[in-house]
Amino acid sequence: MLLDGLGVAVAESGRFTAYGLSRLRQTELFARLPAERRFDIEVVSQVLPFRVNDFVLRELIDWDAPLEDPVFRLTFPHRDMLAPRAFEAMAALLRAGAPRAETERLARSLRAGLNPHPAGQQTLNVPELDGNPLPGVQHKYANTVLFFPSAGQTCHSYCTFCFRWPQFVGAEDRFSAKDSAGLAAYLRVHPEVSDLLVTGGDPMVMRTHRLAGYLEPLLADPGLAHVRTVRIGTKSLTFWPHRYVLDEDADDLLALFRRIVDSGRHVALMAHVNHWREMESPLFAEAVARIRATGAVIRTQAPLLAHINDDAEVWATLWERQVNLGMVPYYMFVERDTGADQYFQVPLERAARIYADAVRRVGGLARTARGPSMSCGPGKVEVQGVAEVRGERVFVLRFLQGRRADWANRPFFAAYDPSATWFDQLRPAFGEPRFFFSDEYDAITGRTPLPPEAGV
Ligand SMILES: *Cc1c(COP(=O)(O)O)cnc(C)c1O
Repeated sequence: MLLDGLGVAVAESGRFTAYGLSRLRQTELFARLPAERRFDIEVVSQVLPFRVNDFVLRELIDWDAPLEDPVFRLTFPHRDMLAPRAFEAMAALLRAGAPRAETERLARSLRAGLNPHPAGQQTLNVPELDGNPLPGVQHKYANTVLFFPSAGQTCHSYCTFCFRWPQFVGAEDRFSAKDSAGLAAYLRVHPEVSDLLVTGGDPMVMRTHRLAGYLEPLLADPGLAHVRTVRIGTKSLTFWPHRYVLDEDADDLLALFRRIVDSGRHVALMAHVNHWREMESPLFAEAVARIRATGAVIRTQAPLLAHINDDAEVWATLWERQVNLGMVPYYMFVERDTGADQYFQVPLERAARIYADAVRRVGGLARTARGPSMSCGPGKVEVQGVAEVRGERVFVLRFLQGRRADWANRPFFAAYDPSATWFDQLRPAFGEPRFFFSDEYDAITGRTPLPPEAGV
């Protein structure tokens, strides 16, 4: 492997080099961090998955001040990502030189306490085909199906806040499908599905022929004409723009996008971008231009995160630069209630204020991101803001998507709570006992028997 002066791999064949902890330890960069920070990284990465690639390491992090750098904070573990007792327990094992089996046993039990499968995704969203659960597919909202191809269940780099973190730590309860035959059979009998969302992990870690192997059979299937849009969720646009420019199969990938566009479908690359600092390399702009030239649209989304982008100015700059390059901001998410959520959470009231302040700073075309939005059990709930209704302070909320399609776009109210960070902490406003959807939701989740007229 060819190394640069910092001990970081130089891409020779257009492939990225992944850095887990052991390879990271061999770099000059790691040695530059203070010893206590290095130990913190060792401890936390026993529990939460850690990985970067050579490009993120070399090009996106400012190593003159790494601890304040947003991309460093995005990718490197911090001790406060674990509860103090959990951190101390793991630190004690490492200091004592405990065997791998012992640290792994503790890591497993700590992970189990981090709500690895939020919003009922393992029990409520897994569809059935001929009476059997269909692996690697989730269907929560009538019009959109998620597909998790097994070859795409890793990522260029693991973001410390990523709600998909369980996909990266153990194979047992991972979502993944080895091919798209089951998906095709399912979609054929679900004409209500217009949107296919290919996700992971990151589908763009796959070689083009692999991705094509999953997608081409769907395009050719005359029974799937109702699937009008294909979205691909990815972090690669900023973390490995080479994928679209320099990788040996980059041109094949763009040709694949073009074929899907030519089949009459909308192709959206759903790019995950947390901070404008990720967008500064010339390679990034080139990747964007090449993708756009295929007819695919790049839409962007990201969660609002303490320590990284909880600042209206950062979002305003992010959205403006994206629009400038021809991308379309799509969602601002609220950090989900999983993994290191305690570290990243921002109170909902503050999140709504950051969103509003950011929107006010930009022109209309950069105001297209909806949010801040919580992907919770009942649906996607947008926090529109805080209002006062006849003397009572309330959160104004609306469903962007509902587990029942007819909940979508319904406004509703929750009692104001300045410290609430997630949906399950909210109570109905005006002293009402239940939200408008609570009975139906309980019936869907099996918490109460179905009323006879509720066709779920
Ligand atoms: C966000 C999300 C979707 C996509 O919803 P759109 O409104 O189509 O953007 C689909 N499935 C799940 C489970 C989601 O969380």
